Amino acid sequence: MTENGSGRVVYRREPRVSRLHDPRKAFALSDVESEIRYDPLTGESSRICHFSLPAAAPSDLGAIAEARRPGCPFCPGKVDTVTPRFPEELVPGGRFRRGEAVVFPNLFPYDELSTVLVPTARHDVAMADVPESLIASGVGTARDFLSATLPRLGGDLYGIVTWNHMPPAGGTQLHPHMQVVATSEPGNAIRRELAAESTWLATNGRPYAEDLLAAEEAAGRVVGRTGRWTWHVPFAPSGVLGDCRAVLPGKATVLDLDDDDVAAFATGLRRVLRGFAAAGLWSFNLTFVPDHGGERSGRHALSARLLPRLYIDPVLHSPDANYLHMLLGERFSMAWPEEVAERLRKAFSEP
Ligand SMILES: [Zn+2]
Repeated sequence: MTENGSGRVVYRREPRVSRLHDPRKAFALSDVESEIRYDPLTGESSRICHFSLPAAAPSDLGAIAEARRPGCPFCPGKVDTVTPRFPEELVPGGRFRRGEAVVFPNLFPYDELSTVLVPTARHDVAMADVPESLIASGVGTARDFLSATLPRLGGDLYGIVTWNHMPPAGGTQLHPHMQVVATSEPGNAIRRELAAESTWLATNGRPYAEDLLAAEEAAGRVVGRTGRWTWHVPFAPSGVLGDCRAVLPGKATVLDLDDDDVAAFATGLRRVLRGFAAAGLWSFNLTFVPDHGGERSGRHALSARLLPRLYIDPVLHSPDANYLHMLLGERFSMAWPEEVAERLRKAFSEP
């Protein structure tokens, strides 16, 4: 085991070597390296198994999107006639609108307030070319919707904003759409992270994000800054072909975002999406990780996590999640986070 810390953040990694007779090298005895890394906050492990894998969108994706357009429930016209409406006392008029964006109830709710947010009238938007205006429309509308509805629900709820783009990420509609959920139960990952941040604050007297960002800068995994957001590639990876995280110190919820924060987030996310798309990726999950509205300790900095998704075998539609993710709670990556950071840094340096 090796430990390399910067400040109080400890980066723990365990290199492993597997010895085998490799048929690709005339059965020569070969060492194959892998590595286990531990998240410096939660201690959760993930694995890096370094081999190359091409990622590519289906060549007929454009044709599929066109074929789906007539039946798309999120396209202009349809959205007013086929999507559910909120009770009048929660959202006057039944749907929440802001410019092109519209929010309506999820027909298959995950919680008491579980919604779909369509940020654009555009039906077909490639990951390589998601406009800043679309991202700002989605995040700004989510903030305004939460701001309008949370007070009517009562309690210290979490306002969670997520996005599944394209089928490998679980998107069941091709038309861009996000989800906004208000809940008292934010899920296992957020609960674990917030508990660890409370412990960090009590132990060190400073919020974790401050120490983390200083350590990430020293480790070379910060890829860029937009406004008050810092974008970095986490030490312990969660995506098969990499992932990225944006952190906003000093703010803890989506409701805390001002218009400058929303615009700066859109600028950064567009660059990150382009960076991953340049490697052939075309689908992603995104989630904001907020604290709940009543927390006053200052333990948490609002973050957003981007996880590109892919079919391991596009013909067989083999997903990039298997028993490791689904049953053992373990992530693995085929890309070194430091190499992913280098690639995304280039995307940030392009106009
Ligand atoms: Zn559509």
